[in-house]
Amino acid sequence: MTKKFYLETHGCQMNVHDSEKASFALSGIDYEMTQDPVDADLILLNTCMVREKAARKVFSRISEIKSRYRKNSKKSGLPLFGVMGCVAQSEAERIFEKSRDVKLVLGTQAISKLPELMGQLEQGFSRAIDVRLSKDADFFELKAESRQTRHSAYLTITEGCNKFCSFCIVPFTRGRERSRPADSIVGEARDLAVQGFKEIYLLGQNVNSYGLSGKYHSNALNGLELEEGGEQITFARLLERVARESGIPRIKFTTSYPRDFDEEIVRVIDDHENLCEWIHLPVQSGSNRMLRAMRRGYSRQEYMLKIEAIRRARKEMAITGDIIIGFPGETEDDFNETLSLAAEVEYDGLYIFNYSPRPKTPAAAFTDSVPDSVKTERFQKLQELQDRIQSRRFARFVGRIEEVLVEGKSARSDSDFTGHTRSNLIVNFPADQDMLGKIAKVKILQAKHHSLYGELI
Ligand code: SF4
Repeated sequence: MTKKFYLETHGCQMNVHDSEKASFALSGIDYEMTQDPVDADLILLNTCMVREKAARKVFSRISEIKSRYRKNSKKSGLPLFGVMGCVAQSEAERIFEKSRDVKLVLGTQAISKLPELMGQLEQGFSRAIDVRLSKDADFFELKAESRQTRHSAYLTITEGCNKFCSFCIVPFTRGRERSRPADSIVGEARDLAVQGFKEIYLLGQNVNSYGLSGKYHSNALNGLELEEGGEQITFARLLERVARESGIPRIKFTTSYPRDFDEEIVRVIDDHENLCEWIHLPVQSGSNRMLRAMRRGYSRQEYMLKIEAIRRARKEMAITGDIIIGFPGETEDDFNETLSLAAEVEYDGLYIFNYSPRPKTPAAAFTDSVPDSVKTERFQKLQELQDRIQSRRFARFVGRIEEVLVEGKSARSDSDFTGHTRSNLIVNFPADQDMLGKIAKVKILQAKHHSLYGELI
């Protein structure tokens, strides 16, 4: 009999995409998805460690689901609980220790092992776990027809990271950087185009360090190990291949890393109409002192040279970024440098995070010297500045006609649909159901705080 699973995803696009892969793996062993945990035989939490106290949140979420289940489910006993994602990778033993309900812990490279681990539990094992990290791990290949979305798809090109920025847990939870062979990426993109997908996002923790077409095991900057027959290509060349050979109308990518981002990428975007005008280039701080402490490997001046290269492009690009507030040792002067950088760049969107330490990272040993009240104050100051910049930036779209991929109903209004522009801004507009999945021309009538509003033409 078909069983049901409920899967809750927290965190970034990589996690959203991993959840798609886990759903696909479960469908192969006769599980189907339910949106209600009360109906589920298996409850999987896909976790993220970007926010503080992530592990604690996992346990409180399990308690909430359990009490809802007990109140509302007609089944006897409890469903099986599983944890995947960064918390699973980083805190596997603690999860088992702290919660007897969790029977399954699935590391970030173990999604393809999900059927095998479920099999172990069915055979009577009291728990199943796979948190191995290997530089040789294969990429999970997801068939275009088994995607959960129909119009826009994530496509992994690199996994893991070798940068070891001092605040970041990714190298410990996702392992060393690996690049997927270019033929496999281009092949998947082509399949998606045949299935009618209009847009893809090429994904990786650091897509710009994509280095070789053959499967390789280390970052281009740290020495190459090329498999037989492999050919070295850069991210710019990969982008060019996907643009030329996939047949996908809109191609976006994230996340870029300032040190590895180069002008050649801008040139390639300029040369191919299906490469979209959006670059997410996290800076994290405007102060060179902080950038050094964060071990980012570039200076403010070097970052600004990349921004200038993007601004010189033929296409008008949208630039978004990430900034961390209150990194250990951040002074008022450091913070003012960040404010002045944000004003200079004029981001179209900015994700601001208050710093909090992550276990295992070098910065966790630094004294978290900036009081929470100061972090909050600085956060608000930067957010206010960004809101002013964003209003100005968004206003330039009013009266323009933008290409929007119609992705679904707006959460705010029954008659409105929502989608993204090529520059990745959200647009809401009235439309009919039959527009779903189409690339529409929308005249922008109004610029709001975080989105645009328009009408179909
Ligand atoms: S480059 Fe990004 S993912 Fe890699 S360590 Fe730095 S912040 Fe983390």
